[in-house]
Amino acid sequence: MTSLGHVTDEDRAHLRRCIALAGEALDAGDEPFGSILVDADGTERYADRNRVAGGDHTRHPEFEIARWAVANLSPEQRAAATVYTSGEHCPMCSAAHAWVGLGRIVFASSSEQLTAWHREWGIAAGPVAPLPISTVAPQVPVAGPDPELSQQVRALHARLHGVD
Ligand code: ZN
Repeated sequence: MTSLGHVTDEDRAHLRRCIALAGEALDAGDEPFGSILVDADGTERYADRNRVAGGDHTRHPEFEIARWAVANLSPEQRAAATVYTSGEHCPMCSAAHAWVGLGRIVFASSSEQLTAWHREWGIAAGPVAPLPISTVAPQVPVAGPDPELSQQVRALHARLHGVD
């Protein structure tokens, strides 16, 4: 079993970038999720945001990152990379991350938090169970959520649903 790792100050800088991407997604009519891949040297190599507004609900940034990583990084580079994300990977993205052999994941807000916010706001549950990364991909080291940054993510989702 992996333990919930520690979110460092360096991690928080990358998570803020993910939250900015989530804000861009929201401004563009998509759901507020943003993610980046950072290599072993600490360099951002790929960034994307949610793109489901066109009707394809598999267009999650973490899934795009997994596909990009296979095409552009060696297995060793993938294992040494960290994926930062505004919201914890869904089961589809957790599986993709694990299948392509990517390394650590750091998330600003957890799936458990998102589920609780939706329940609080009366939003119907989605078609996929909100299983944590640690259940779907137990060998992947994870860190998160961050108490302060998760509240920024909450505010974006509140805007999406027109609450608060
Ligand atoms: Zn996903």
